[in-house]
Amino acid sequence: IKQDDDYATLLKERKELIGRNLSISYKKKLKIIKGAFQYLYDDKGRTYIDCVNNVSHVGHCHPTVVKAMQQQIATLNTNTRYLNDNLTNYAKMLCATLPPSLNVCFFTNSGSEANDLAIRMSRHFTKQKDVIVLDHAYHGTSTVAMELSPYKFDGKGGFGQPPHIHKAQNPDLYRGEYRYEDKDAGAQYAKSVQQLIEKLEKEDKAPAAFICETLLGVGGQIPLPENYLEEVYKYVRSAGGVCIADEVQVGFGRVGEKFWGFELQNVVPDMVVLGKPIGNGHPLAAVVTTTEIAEAFNNGMEYFNTFGGNPVSMTTGIAVLTTIQSEEMQQHALETGNYLMAGLSSLKEKHPIIGDVRGYGLFVGAELIRNKETLEPAVPEIDEIVEKMKERGFLLSTDGPLYNVLKIKPPMVFNHDNADALVRNLDEVLVEMNLNEGKNQEC
Ligand code: PMP
Repeated sequence: IKQDDDYATLLKERKELIGRNLSISYKKKLKIIKGAFQYLYDDKGRTYIDCVNNVSHVGHCHPTVVKAMQQQIATLNTNTRYLNDNLTNYAKMLCATLPPSLNVCFFTNSGSEANDLAIRMSRHFTKQKDVIVLDHAYHGTSTVAMELSPYKFDGKGGFGQPPHIHKAQNPDLYRGEYRYEDKDAGAQYAKSVQQLIEKLEKEDKAPAAFICETLLGVGGQIPLPENYLEEVYKYVRSAGGVCIADEVQVGFGRVGEKFWGFELQNVVPDMVVLGKPIGNGHPLAAVVTTTEIAEAFNNGMEYFNTFGGNPVSMTTGIAVLTTIQSEEMQQHALETGNYLMAGLSSLKEKHPIIGDVRGYGLFVGAELIRNKETLEPAVPEIDEIVEKMKERGFLLSTDGPLYNVLKIKPPMVFNHDNADALVRNLDEVLVEMNLNEGKNQEC
């Protein structure tokens, strides 16, 4: 009873004191008080497997990262107007993971701020304003990042599509215009970008930039079709535009086969935007670009960022990157991700509510449907599944334009046993909900 009172007070105060347009997960709220690697612990002493937090990339409170941060914050934290070894050391380490043309770093404090800066730089470089984005995309919460985000401007309370922003088709092979069976779906979807460029040309304009995630997160945990970015980048570059890869969700080895999502598509972007996992929860983000673009931005106006690139952030970035490498997390993501996807795919055979299982490494989505022909989204069934899984100790969430994609992107230390437990419990929940009959029809 005391705990319930405590929750009621916390909720009441939160409502009064914190901006109200901030949602809170789960019907029965959780008070998480401690984290360790892929596990979170609540105030009742219950343990949860965190299946969704890709920010705590190397694991919640990873001791190597915590120790490095503690030592640095006890020694020095100031801005970047003094010489500091770790600023350049980290930039060197980061650039070593990227293709050689991406060799100038700008450090910021959030993915939104980094996307904002990337767009600003693309406009300096091209002297153009228009930007091509993908439908349903999300690129952040600053004013510019919101303009890049159909998920926001087309959604509840949205301000509508700005005139200088152009939406290309979401290249969704499961429910989009071109599907898994279309061998040249990538090239077909790329034509939607080409058409927007042609429309701009008729108005004597050209794109400053094309920006997309290299696997679509809010768009529905969607891997890009083969050849898609190769084709798109060709169109954008021939119109003089800059190609920006938003790696905020998927970078740093998560996709397993490669260190960066864009590498799955055999392209080299002109700018990459990094965030979330880069600081394992510490507010750090970055734009890495080419010398040419960085020089066009160096036009006499200083770019200074009070917190960006500070010694604690840089030390954190180094510790995270070192941990990913020393603990071979990319390889681990590949193996565990494949194992998990195999488990989910076998559930798909048993439960028709699972329409599609997709992803790379530890960036996985399971799309839930009521009907295999109409692909009617299984909402609100999915919310009940997420609630029931929480009761069993698994934290999951939903995403996609229709809110029917089960999102799985755990800390990279998520292991085979966790995958087994997740699949087994999901199976039991689906059996318990009896979704194989009635509402969910198999065709
Ligand atoms: N880009 C993508 C793809 C994101 O998913 C997000 C955050 N969800 C952002 C940018 C914005 O990052 P932040 O919340 O750190 O500003």
